[in-house]
Amino acid sequence: MFVKKGRLYLLAFIALYIASYYVVIINWKQDEIGLIVGNLFSMVGPLVGVILLLYSVIRMKKNRRFWSILALGIGCYFLAELTWNYYENHLKVEVPYPGLPDLFYILQIVFFLIAFSNRLLSEIRRMKAIKYIFDITIIMIVAVSLSWYFIIKPILITPDVSPLFVAVSLAYPVGDLALLLMVMIIFFGQKNPWTKSGILYIALGLVVQIYADSIYLYLQAIGNYHSGNLIDPMFTLSMLLVGYAGVTSLTLEQSSAKRVKALDYKQLSLFRMIAPYACAVGIFIFLLVEQPSINAITLGAGLTLILIVIRQVAIMIENNQLLKKFDRRTKQLAVSTQRYKTIFQYHPDAVFSLDLQGKYQSINDMVVQLTGYLYEELIGESFLTLLDEESEKKVQSYLIKAINGVPQYFDTYIQTRSGTSILLSITMIPMVVQEKVVGLYGVAKDITDNRINEEKIKFMAYHDSLTGLPNRSLFDEKLTVAMEEAKDTNEHFAVFFIDLDHLKVINDTLGHEIGDELLIESAKRMRLSLSAQDIVARQGGDEFILLARNVKEDEVVVFAKQLLDRLRKPYTIQGNEVSATPSIGIALYPTDAATPRELLKNADMAMYRVKNNGKNNFSKYNPTMDEEWSKVMTLERDLHQALERHELELHYQPQIDVSTGKIIGVEALIRWNHPVFGDIPPTVFIPLADKSGIIQKITRWVIDQAIAQAVEWQNKGLDPITMGINISPKLLESDRIVELVTNMLEVHKLPPDRLDIEVTEALAVNAEHSIETLDQLKELGVRISLDDFGTGYSSLSHLIRLPIDRVKIAKEFVEGIGIDKRMEGIIHSISTIANELQFGLIAEGVETDIQASYLKKLNCTVMQGYLYSEPLPAKQLEKILQQKSFKEQDVLPD
Ligand code: C2E
Ligand code: CA
Repeated sequence: MFVKKGRLYLLAFIALYIASYYVVIINWKQDEIGLIVGNLFSMVGPLVGVILLLYSVIRMKKNRRFWSILALGIGCYFLAELTWNYYENHLKVEVPYPGLPDLFYILQIVFFLIAFSNRLLSEIRRMKAIKYIFDITIIMIVAVSLSWYFIIKPILITPDVSPLFVAVSLAYPVGDLALLLMVMIIFFGQKNPWTKSGILYIALGLVVQIYADSIYLYLQAIGNYHSGNLIDPMFTLSMLLVGYAGVTSLTLEQSSAKRVKALDYKQLSLFRMIAPYACAVGIFIFLLVEQPSINAITLGAGLTLILIVIRQVAIMIENNQLLKKFDRRTKQLAVSTQRYKTIFQYHPDAVFSLDLQGKYQSINDMVVQLTGYLYEELIGESFLTLLDEESEKKVQSYLIKAINGVPQYFDTYIQTRSGTSILLSITMIPMVVQEKVVGLYGVAKDITDNRINEEKIKFMAYHDSLTGLPNRSLFDEKLTVAMEEAKDTNEHFAVFFIDLDHLKVINDTLGHEIGDELLIESAKRMRLSLSAQDIVARQGGDEFILLARNVKEDEVVVFAKQLLDRLRKPYTIQGNEVSATPSIGIALYPTDAATPRELLKNADMAMYRVKNNGKNNFSKYNPTMDEEWSKVMTLERDLHQALERHELELHYQPQIDVSTGKIIGVEALIRWNHPVFGDIPPTVFIPLADKSGIIQKITRWVIDQAIAQAVEWQNKGLDPITMGINISPKLLESDRIVELVTNMLEVHKLPPDRLDIEVTEALAVNAEHSIETLDQLKELGVRISLDDFGTGYSSLSHLIRLPIDRVKIAKEFVEGIGIDKRMEGIIHSISTIANELQFGLIAEGVETDIQASYLKKLNCTVMQGYLYSEPLPAKQLEKILQQKSFKEQDVLPD
């Protein structure tokens, strides 16, 4: 295979070959040897040409016919040389003219003509020969004129020659001229000679041949030709060049043609351009040389011709540059068009263009993918067809604005082919051509998922995950809006602050799962009370806030009652009947507050009031609550110094076994004598102490005081009684209380069984730690009573796990005796359970004889209540203790 280097060697060989040929001709002019060697050179040359062409043809893929016919042509030439040689060197005679060699020479020309006309036919469509018709014509006119002048005319006027002589002699110049015409047509028609077929070398070869032929014929005509003439190697060169052209064509075909594409293009096109004019100038110069009689007119005509030619060449050069520029621009345009197309077609978003009527002009694949409609279905259709009626109007206005030159950005839903609607974020840009809007470009992004996620996030940000109710943030927004609107409409509305009582107890005793479900269920009930504009939100924990729009002052009570009734009813959750009664505080707009914050604070205060007044009710805000509230704040602050300032005191309430009339124990109940507000009930300040943590210090003080008091009475010789103390459930969560009790008992030397620790049912039964603490206390020998039994939510199974000695029947149930059959039922159950589980029983809050007799009938003989005594300061109680016992008639009326 010939690579570039191979071709170079070949070219060098050709040069060397021809040079050697010349050396032979010049040195052995007319010699025998010169003749033989010269003829050998002229014979081997075409042979090499044939071999080169055949070599190339075998390996070529394209234009094989063309090259094969050319090979045949060179082959004929070789035969011509062979026969020539035969005459001259073998037969040693003058080569006949016209003779056999001429037949082969002419055949060579004929084959070449066949090859070119063949090629011409196959490439005719690609050629722009017309463009060069003038150039070709000029060259041909010059060639024909010269040929006529030097060759054809002399042949025709040669006297005494046979018609065959004339015919053969004419065949050469005519054939050559035809060849020249073909070569020029092909050569000029090539867009880029290099890439095609090495046609340049054929052209070169033929030009050499035509030139040599012409000289040869001229010499023949004037009878001056002999073998070994200087033009002989030119024929050989011509054949070798054609052979070389074949090899070039082959290597160009094999290597990537791109590498050489740009090579010499400029020079070639310049040559192509200048050639006709050069010929014209050439013939003029010839005119001057041949006809020495120059006169002013020929000179003037000549100069004019030269100037025209120069001018023409200058224009051509300029044109050529313009053409190149145009070519470059076209390429750039093609690149940018390609880029634009790529951006358009492969854009990840839907891209489309609309005409001024809003009809699709072009769309990319993404539009098809997004809408589900085919290209053909959308093109020519209005952009609005995929929209619903409502969006249509909106989007139409955007389109009009965009057509007026203002880019538009908007979101709209469209209906896809499958009927689903998707949300698109659309950018519409006016398409401006020469300062006129000729249409619109649109880019659309599917943001359906984004919107869904956005909505989810927004929902999460504005809602409580457990109940699905709005949260405080959303509530605040709605409340603000309501207030803004109410300013214009004079609307009245109410805010409800709802707190579920005992939710903590439910969580602690029945578990968080049930607590959660209870919250969900109560949220549902709250929703039932709402009308469209109202909103209920979970404020956190067990607190809810409700906004009831358009509720006047007189209607608010009805609304509240309805809400209360709904929420009061017990729930059945996982087979448990639980109730979470609400405490509801209400504040009205505009009566009670001017700002959302104030309104909520006032509703909260009203709720707090309900909590303090026994819960399970509602209360409207009134301005005195502000005082109460600030009082609470003051109390919370002052509580910290209450101990140091000795404002706390214990009162004792006796517990009597009515079957014997004996006081068997007392319950220590704390009192706070506030320097400004006077007596503060423990129901007010114990929760505050619990909240602030000061309860620990207070409890320590209570235990110390109570035990000391018990020991004091014991030392005074009074009958032994148990000392009951109340312990906040919170304190049972750690075992520091065990240490404290142990210490106090030791310090004061009170037998442990004289201490009775009252714990409410609200203690965290679920929290194993609280039970452990109780177990440890029990191990100390301390007695344990379950306070307010029945108001909490402990199930029987929990009850069994607690190390308790007795249960206290809560005041609430005792109050119902003789009034409420259900309360009586509960008391009945409690006493049965206590008997079954062998717990002791004590009733508190006994105020009437009826209650006492009822309880006694149920075998509950230990009682505590105003019927016997209020809680009293130690000194006063001591007096009662000294009486040793209550008389039978005092304790058990008929
Ligand atoms: P509790 O343990 O249920 O205490 C019984 C409450 O009922 C006492 O209210 C007592 O004065 C009241 N009471 C007794 N007999 C009658 C009666 O016949 N009729 C009526 N209406 N009430 C009666 P008090 O003293 O206001 O105590 C309230 C709550 O404060 C107590 O409820 C207890 O849970 C808590 N408490 C009192 N002292 C302490 C203490 O030292 N530490 C802790 N942690 N809590 C305490
Ligand atoms: Ca108690």
